[in-house]
Amino acid sequence: MAPGAKRTTTATKKAETAQFVFYKDRLATYKNFSLDEVPDATCTSKTLARAGFVCTGEESAKCPFCLKELDFEAEDDPWDEHKKRGSDCEFVRIGKLDESTLTLAETIILTQHAVVMAKYDDQLKIVKEIERSTSPDHLYEQISKASKRPAAKPSSRRAK
Ligand SMILES: [Zn+2]
Repeated sequence: MAPGAKRTTTATKKAETAQFVFYKDRLATYKNFSLDEVPDATCTSKTLARAGFVCTGEESAKCPFCLKELDFEAEDDPWDEHKKRGSDCEFVRIGKLDESTLTLAETIILTQHAVVMAKYDDQLKIVKEIERSTSPDHLYEQISKASKRPAAKPSSRRAK
């Protein structure tokens, strides 16, 4: 079984990134979601998960198919918000809130989108990190840090 070990790991990772295709898996990302405590809220973990979103914070959620991340308020309609802002979203394009009506082809398309977008999201984070660490401000900071001579530091903040 040992030679197949690496392959199993890759398969598991793929399954993880595709896990948000289904409602119950998206819903499972919401733990003690604050808007669930608001009486008569239209925006809850259930309506968010149904509209395609996974939880990313106390009042924020993200679509794994188009990567739109939004802050929500109790009176929001998650599906309306998703349609308004996710014009390039495959989940919105397919538009089936009742996933029992999804065809096999649509399920495969959504799975592929979730996997591709998760990879894209990872790469975007790396690019942002590179951009951040090579910004002129950061470079200036690094250079001034490097050119500071510790011995020349004024010692005016001596403990009394
Ligand atoms: Zn979306």
